[in-house]
Amino acid sequence: MIVVSDTNNIKPDSINPLATNISRVLVSSQDIQKRIEELGAQISKDYAGQSLVVIGVLKGAFPFMAALIKHITVPVVIDFVAVSSYEGTSSTGVVRFQKDVEEPLTGRNVLVVEDIVDTGLTLHYLMNTLQVRDPKSLEICCLVDKPARRKIEITSKYIGFTIPDRFIVGFGMDYEEHYRSLDFIGILSPKAIKP
Ligand code: 5GP
Repeated sequence: MIVVSDTNNIKPDSINPLATNISRVLVSSQDIQKRIEELGAQISKDYAGQSLVVIGVLKGAFPFMAALIKHITVPVVIDFVAVSSYEGTSSTGVVRFQKDVEEPLTGRNVLVVEDIVDTGLTLHYLMNTLQVRDPKSLEICCLVDKPARRKIEITSKYIGFTIPDRFIVGFGMDYEEHYRSLDFIGILSPKAIKP
């Protein structure tokens, strides 16, 4: 397990104007890329000789999934779902299914790729929905795990980084739809968060 503390003092790269609202880099671009390579290698090993349906949870998982599948060496089919439970920076606890997958899942190995697991409510709902379709296997790969605020148990087979209870943005993760394009994971300045 790779546990990240927020005691480092790395300052966001001033080259990216979007980073002015980021108070601190939590995980650098280099560390993210290295970890994604490791996850891809592990997944390739675990599913050797088989194929995989990789399902990205929109929108946050999209950069992570794009990078991850390049390091998976078994045959992969991709698909997406959209489920939302968030408004602003806190969970409403209300999960909405906005887009379903197009691939049939029965008898197939399914890997759900998510940006971050927080309360666990989103994935709990999604995993229950997908399990009903009778996949051969159903696992989770998340870039970030934030276990401090968990409301329901979720077991991710593959976890990029385990972080403390902070609101983070970047590498797909947003605040009011901004910051998804940052290539690092950062902590948003309190001044950038609406009261
Ligand atoms: P959960 O249902 O596990 O509470 O929430 C999962 C979703 O909430 C994630 O897919 C993500 O969209 C959002 N989320 C949870 N924590 C954070 C965070 O620290 N930053 C951002 N940007 N989104 C978060």
